[in-house]
Amino acid sequence: MSVRSKASDIFFSRMVVSVDKPIRITRLPKDKYLELIRGYNHTKKSQIFEPQLPLDRASKRVSENVVTPANEPIPECTTCGVCCDLPLVVPISNAETERFSDYWEIYPDESVSDAAIERVLPRDADSGRCVHLAGELGVEIGCRIYPQRPTPCRDFEAGSDRCHEYRRMYGIERPLSRSAAKTAVKKIVSTPRGVITYAAIVVESTGWKSSYIAGSPGGPVTVPTTYLRIAAIVDDNVDDVMILHSYEASEEVWFESDFIGLTPDAAKSLIESRGCRE
Ligand code: SF4
Ligand code: SF4
Repeated sequence: MSVRSKASDIFFSRMVVSVDKPIRITRLPKDKYLELIRGYNHTKKSQIFEPQLPLDRASKRVSENVVTPANEPIPECTTCGVCCDLPLVVPISNAETERFSDYWEIYPDESVSDAAIERVLPRDADSGRCVHLAGELGVEIGCRIYPQRPTPCRDFEAGSDRCHEYRRMYGIERPLSRSAAKTAVKKIVSTPRGVITYAAIVVESTGWKSSYIAGSPGGPVTVPTTYLRIAAIVDDNVDDVMILHSYEASEEVWFESDFIGLTPDAAKSLIESRGCRE
């Protein structure tokens, strides 16, 4: 969620409250976490409208909009909140973990399994919405940790094609007419925007490394490691696969969805902004 107006910033600052019951970040294998998100999305689908536009192609940034008219007013986040309600995967980078320690109990990790999810925005167990969202959707709503919200929340811009589409899915904005939707889909699909339309995280190599494990006596122990790489395709051009980043699975958390709709430069800036090197 990105709040662009001054008034919104004031509102969100006012909404910041201390959280007396910290939320434990649970270590979940990636497949289990994604299964959880898929389950939430399945339930949510019966409560909201089907998207009219292809979400994975709709821009998250106003500057990359394809279908939203340039003079369309930027919607007000404080009377919306739907992008925080959708059960989206919001990873938190290593660099960001520390500033969340006021909100979350963080336990030393003593297990050694590969590619586990350690730092994702917790979701409400019943609704799947972000646990930091407070207020009523579409009426008055805010983020409890707005100044500390993670990078993916900062990267999503109010007024982007995808923001408007989410609002239509929740009935906050009127749906596009059938013919307008058809035209918009055609335009989105046919506009070469130089953005990532497909991303995959694949195993680069596996091996072993020496590591200190909290609480275990003695010196370092040998633990398995997995190196992953993020491959991306721009504008559906399958003949040109680019490697955006290589990293060790226990040190960084990425999801394919982080990169969809970004230009390769924006994707690389995102990687750098989390303190990771290409
Ligand atoms: S969907 Fe758009 S307007 Fe609504 S909260 Fe998210 S960024 Fe703000
Ligand atoms: S942390 Fe705040 S901005 Fe991010 S999804 Fe949760 S409520 Fe929204």
